[in-house]
This record gives sequence, C-alpha cells and structure tokens, in this order.
Amino acid sequence: MSTYNVQTAMNPLPQPAGAAADSLLIQLRNLEKCYQSKAGFTYVLRQITLDIAEGEFVTVMGPSGAGKSTLLGILGLYDHKWDGEFFLRGHPVHGLKPKDRSALNKQFVGFVFQQFHLLDDLTVAENLDIPLSYRNIPKPERQGMVADLLDRFGIVAKKDLYPAQLSGGQQQLVAVARAIIAKPVLLLADEPTGNLHTDQGWEIMELFKKLNQAGTAVVQVTHNEAWAAYGRRVIRLKDGWMENRA
Ligand code: ADP
Repeated sequence: MSTYNVQTAMNPLPQPAGAAADSLLIQLRNLEKCYQSKAGFTYVLRQITLDIAEGEFVTVMGPSGAGKSTLLGILGLYDHKWDGEFFLRGHPVHGLKPKDRSALNKQFVGFVFQQFHLLDDLTVAENLDIPLSYRNIPKPERQGMVADLLDRFGIVAKKDLYPAQLSGGQQQLVAVARAIIAKPVLLLADEPTGNLHTDQGWEIMELFKKLNQAGTAVVQVTHNEAWAAYGRRVIRLKDGWMENRA
C-alpha cells in the first residue's frame, strides 16, 4: 500500500469566482493529449479546462473519435501521458509518481470500461471483491457486500463463473457492479449500458442516480439522449475540443 497521504496534500490553484475550494473534485487546466506517429503529432484532446464539483453528474457526448474515452481514461488516472494540469480533490495528478497515482485511483475511482476489462482468471465474485480489497474492510464484511450486490444485480447464479462464460450483457452488469461496489467518490462510466436491454439500462441509470444522490460524482459517456438527461450538465467534445468551453 502506498504511503502517500491523500488527506494532507494542498490545493495550490486559485479558485474560479464563486467556487469554494473544497467543492471541486476535478480541475483540468489546459489539458492536452497527442499521439506521435511517423506523420507527426495527432492531437486528441485540446486545451481542456474544466471543473467538476463534488457530487456532480456530468454527461460527456460527441461523435466517435472526439476524445471522450481518452478524457475518461485520464480522469480515471489510467492514462498519464498528457500535458497540462489535473487536480483531483486538490492532489496534483500531473506531478504524481505512478504509485501515488495508483493509490488515488484505488481510493477514489470506480470505472466502467467500454470493453469491461474484467479479470479473466477471477470469478465474478472475485472480480467484485477487488475494489473492496483496496479498502480496509474485513473479509467477512466484504463477502456480505459482494453477496448483496450479486443479489441486487440478479447475478447470484453467476458468482462462480469466469467472465468468458458470461454474455456481453452479463459482463457489463458485472463491470458496473464492480465499479460501484466500494461507493467511489468518482464514478466514470464509458457507455455503461451499451450492451444491456433497455429495461436494464434504465435500472443502471436509476442506480447511478441513487449513488449520485448519496454523494458520488458521476461522469458518463453516452450517445443516448435519455441517459444523457440524467446528467445535470452535458460536456460536448468534437475533434478533441470542448465545444461549450468558457
Ligand atoms: P471517442 O471515445 O470519442 O470515440 P477516443 O477517445 O476513443 O474517442 O479517441 C480519440 C482519438 O484518439 C481517435 O481519433 C482515436 O483514433 C485516437 N486514438 C486513440 N488511441 C490511440 C492510439 N493508441 N494511438 C493513436 N491514436 C489513438
């Protein structure tokens, strides 16, 4: 476990007018990302300056290739190859060592990947236990939490199966369950209902809403206008630029 103390880091940024320092969960300042190829640099995120408050529910929309997944990967602390500044609860992510970035990810972030990224050699129940194992929760309590969530998602019968033995929809349910089980401060969801039936989609969105009402900030990527409306704010990306930037 990292010794980085996430409670004590200072936030050196001046605050935008009207924003209380402790109400901001995410601060991006001129964030840029590019890929280098033989043909030169290709920018996929351009001058992204964005604040997201604690407990906000934000929808990110835009055409394919706009940079939505890239932005989510950065917010989730999985991608560190970018320029600019990113503060998460005041922690300067741009200056952190990999182990400290990873510690922040484990402490704060739940992530529903578009491609699920379940661990293939772990069962469904074991996959769900992973985020809890990062917290200081005794094993019997963790087992109870996993059992509760399996029940809530209607996948008790699948608990000892491996991801490859599940349908795409079932894998997505497990991916959502894994992302929320530890009640993260920040839930990032990349098209989290894309493989689900519409009824299941509504259920997941209602679940996100409840989680959000209990204090979790949610940033979701979706193409679905009905799901988008769950967000209190829509951020539109196009060719790596935020269209509605200040
Ligand atoms: P979206 O989620 O909006 O569809 P992405 O964030 O997945 O968009 O991708 C943004 C852009 O970055 C796309 O043009 C994509 O081709 C490019 N891209 C993503 N990954 C790589 C990579 N590893 N190398 C080069 N370009 C990439």
